[in-house]
Amino acid sequence: MRELSSEEIRSSFLNCPKGEAKRMHFPPTMPLLDWEDMDFLGWTDPKAPNRAYLVLDAGEDPLGIALRLPATNRKTDFFKTMTCSFCVTSHPVGGVRMFSAPKPGKAGKRGDTVGLYLCADLACPLYVRGKRESPLIQTVEALTREERIQRLRINVDRFATSFLSHGS
Ligand SMILES: [Zn+2]
Repeated sequence: MRELSSEEIRSSFLNCPKGEAKRMHFPPTMPLLDWEDMDFLGWTDPKAPNRAYLVLDAGEDPLGIALRLPATNRKTDFFKTMTCSFCVTSHPVGGVRMFSAPKPGKAGKRGDTVGLYLCADLACPLYVRGKRESPLIQTVEALTREERIQRLRINVDRFATSFLSHGS
């Protein structure tokens, strides 16, 4: 994706109050980002650990989606290895978290959310490029790096479509 200014990022969110977007904290590593290698931007607010954010490359204007981290569910978060639904990386206990995205507009006002299990550090673009590794041995897949990047993008698009769709 192209490099975004913090202003562009703050104004890209569809599902969080303007005040929250204004006050969100960016990760301290953001100035060092290699934007070309990012399929999306994802981070947990360093000062509000139950809030996380995704900014997707959606053509001209970025699409920002605020996420919530529900209170940790012992059963799912602490005792099982899990796989990220974006990048398909398997992680040991705690390496995948459940996030939920309040839907935009009326559906969100009714309390509709889209839930998903993702790498807890939201660093999927790094995992598919081999720039960060899970300590777990991964299932052997006959996929090239390019194919893994492609699959990540397809999964992210699919999520964006269900996030934006109403009434489901
Ligand atoms: Zn991932």
